[in-house]
Amino acid sequence: MAILQEPIKEILRLQNYVDGEWVDTAGNIKDVVNPATGKVIATVPISTKDEIDEAVAAAKEAFPDWRRTPPVARARCLFRLKELLEENFEELSRIQTMEHGKTIDESRGETRRGIENVEVATGIPSLMMGQVLEDIAAGIDEYLIRQPLGVFGIITPFNFPFMISLWFAPYAIATGNCVVIKPSSEDPICQSKIAELTEEAGIPPGVWNVVNGGRTVVSGMLDHPDIKGVCFVGSTPVGRDVVYKRCGETGKRVISQAGAKNFAIVMPDADLEHTMAACMTSFYGNTGQRCLANSNLVVVGEGLTEREYEAFYSKVVDMFVAAASRIKLGYGLDEMIHMGPIRDKTKKERVLGYIEKGIAEGAKLRLDGRRYEITGDFPDTCFIGPTVFEDVRLDMAIGQEEIFGPVANMMKARTLDEAIEMIHSIPFGNAASIFTGSGKWAREFQYRVECGNIGINIGVAAPMAFFPFSGMKDSFFGTEHGQGQEAVRFFTESKVVIQRWF
Ligand code: NAD
Repeated sequence: MAILQEPIKEILRLQNYVDGEWVDTAGNIKDVVNPATGKVIATVPISTKDEIDEAVAAAKEAFPDWRRTPPVARARCLFRLKELLEENFEELSRIQTMEHGKTIDESRGETRRGIENVEVATGIPSLMMGQVLEDIAAGIDEYLIRQPLGVFGIITPFNFPFMISLWFAPYAIATGNCVVIKPSSEDPICQSKIAELTEEAGIPPGVWNVVNGGRTVVSGMLDHPDIKGVCFVGSTPVGRDVVYKRCGETGKRVISQAGAKNFAIVMPDADLEHTMAACMTSFYGNTGQRCLANSNLVVVGEGLTEREYEAFYSKVVDMFVAAASRIKLGYGLDEMIHMGPIRDKTKKERVLGYIEKGIAEGAKLRLDGRRYEITGDFPDTCFIGPTVFEDVRLDMAIGQEEIFGPVANMMKARTLDEAIEMIHSIPFGNAASIFTGSGKWAREFQYRVECGNIGINIGVAAPMAFFPFSGMKDSFFGTEHGQGQEAVRFFTESKVVIQRWF
């Protein structure tokens, strides 16, 4: 077993990054623990209301000059940032594994996806262009220009500690706004590293700020009159009842991307070998802690006799259990590992609670993640193995609530219609996948399913940076989404000018 070198060798003392300066908090500090080794790797500030106010004031002050900086010059800063992120690619990826627990390959994928957003935002001189129409009436022209608004707040979850701020921040600053980022206090290290690189990239003081902390910082953002809009990614109760609600009350723009419970539908004509490979990544990648993770697998018997359907269902479930049993657990810095630990002990307890509930509600436990082996000598606090339940129904808690761990539910539907009804019966609408060889079924699925991100023979339907990261129902609150052209629209005001010269 060869563990890659850890980039964090002694406990980091994280600070806030405000107005180009690294500052301590007057509030408390909290430990950041590597979930695989159980070691403290950093301390993070839990900032006060005054500290978020200071950051917003610095961002507001930086805004007029940054706004006047030509888009092409702002883009050059992003080109430099992209180069610096590439130079630090491996270190940033290993830090993600240390602070979150995901495997190094998953971290490298996350780093790549984050950098792609910086790449797209470098196109801002083209992306931000307006529109003109001559002669809307005799001798009168009309045009639309896109202008930045000021200061935006960005609040991110624990499950992608590097990438998620980059769904928003590069577009916000490329369009001439300033940002204050509040990372998850559970794994905030990468966001400090990115802030260091923004400084090196020549992004002026006050344009990119990081204020660490929890609810106080979030409330401070939501209530602040100088914050024009908020981007939030996290759970539905916070995204809907705290962020979206308060932004409505305080008149702010909002992108609020929230929780999920995603279905994979397997049709009788699916290529089962590829389907299983895609399902392993989707159900167990990131240890199931992904908003795009599939959680319910529905085996569909469309066109089959009862006997054929039973045989097909058993085959799919057996293949799934066999593939899941081969997943190796351990420290993500070991490149031979397939799955890391859950982010922390409390989250593990929550997942174990769902396994207990599933058993109590009568689902059949085919693979018990409470029994597992860890490759290497690591404390047994946050690990949990791949779990498979059979005979899961939608009235069970495991069938309809977001578990956010490596638990897969096997379900049945006689027809595609029935499977689509199952998807629609739960409140979430983040993602859904269909595995089939039939264009007709795939089109029907894409046309009818009320989910923002659809996979056709794809397990993790993750939109690339030049497409919006979508979501529907209780998985998304707002109008424009993060990434690409929609982010550019979110971060700009459309101003219309009508002119006539005498
Ligand atoms: P979370 O809602 O607990 O926390 C998200 C952020 O909000 C964090 O920065 C946290 O500090 C802050 N926060 C938490 N509770 C708060 C409160 N009561 N008031 C104010 N702020 C609060 O989410 P999490 O556990 O960090 O992340 C997992 C969740 O995020 C899952 O539900 C997952 O589906 C979702 N997620 C969604 C997407 C998407 O694009 N739809 C992407 C990634 C994660």
